[in-house]
Amino acid sequence: MEPPCDACTAICCKFRGYDYSVILEPEEADAFPEAVRSLAENAMVIPSREGKCIFLDPNDKCSIYERRPIRCQQFNCTVGYRCKPDGRHSFLLEDYPKLVELIELRLKS
Ligand code: SF4
Repeated sequence: MEPPCDACTAICCKFRGYDYSVILEPEEADAFPEAVRSLAENAMVIPSREGKCIFLDPNDKCSIYERRPIRCQQFNCTVGYRCKPDGRHSFLLEDYPKLVELIELRLKS
């Protein structure tokens, strides 16, 4: 299933309660001078600012899309759709019912 990125407002780039937006793979950390070490994650991370990735532009688009981190390239919110044994969604989808609506619209089309 394709994620509804064209209809979403970059929810996956907005993390409430975290001081980082993306954990970097060890081999790519040097490619991001903006990266900082997260002691909690024991890894280099891209920081967030005011609840958003520092690379998210005012139009909710990734300003470094062509060179975005590996985890951003791999992320697909639809994997979390009814992913739990009892049919519940991932935490991201449970926190954003609007995103579930978008996925269900995509499933019907
Ligand atoms: S680097 Fe781009 S795709 Fe990754 S979280 Fe930040 S804005 Fe989103």
